[in-house]
Amino acid sequence: MPSQRELRELFHALPPEEFQDVARRQEIAEWRRVNCFCGCCGAAMRRHEDPAERAMVCPSCGYVAYPKITPAVIVLVAKGDSILLQRNSHYHVPYWSLVAGFVDAGENFEEAVRREIREEASIEVRDIQYFGSQCWPFPSNMMVGFRAEYASGELKPDGEEVMESGWFRRNELPPIPRPRSLARALIDDWLQGGECAPTRARP
Ligand SMILES: [Zn+2]
Repeated sequence: MPSQRELRELFHALPPEEFQDVARRQEIAEWRRVNCFCGCCGAAMRRHEDPAERAMVCPSCGYVAYPKITPAVIVLVAKGDSILLQRNSHYHVPYWSLVAGFVDAGENFEEAVRREIREEASIEVRDIQYFGSQCWPFPSNMMVGFRAEYASGELKPDGEEVMESGWFRRNELPPIPRPRSLARALIDDWLQGGECAPTRARP
């Protein structure tokens, strides 16, 4: 199995359908790796006796573990003819991207969008619309993309996760994520003046 670093390189190098196959195998391998032992009683887990059932079963207490996918939201916030971009402290390359973060326990996607924007940028949004989703196997996430309109508040980066943030017009964008990512698809759609297609998964 490729390392996470190699997998990120494959993300940009392979055709999408080939990468999807690699991603699926990687996520399943990672899920099996972290489910060798039962999370409830500590006994060694076994594969489900039905090969069609993708599950690990505890022979001691009966706990059944299915592949765990962790949802995260990413959102393009528009304000007039500008969008919010920010530079995060953990980025290895100096590009600017969109607000993103993991969905917390007890939240729906829209609540996660509002919370992440509030935490990272100190602003409020309205008109949250679904854009599309993307398997993000680093190591087992699901990115769910949204667009939203600025509503109120003064932009202020949190200074920890977000180092800089700002509103950018189409002709003055800083370095942005490479093609193929959902972040880039959201930005490209905005650049082309696209309207949301709520039921269509992209990219
Ligand atoms: Zn058990």
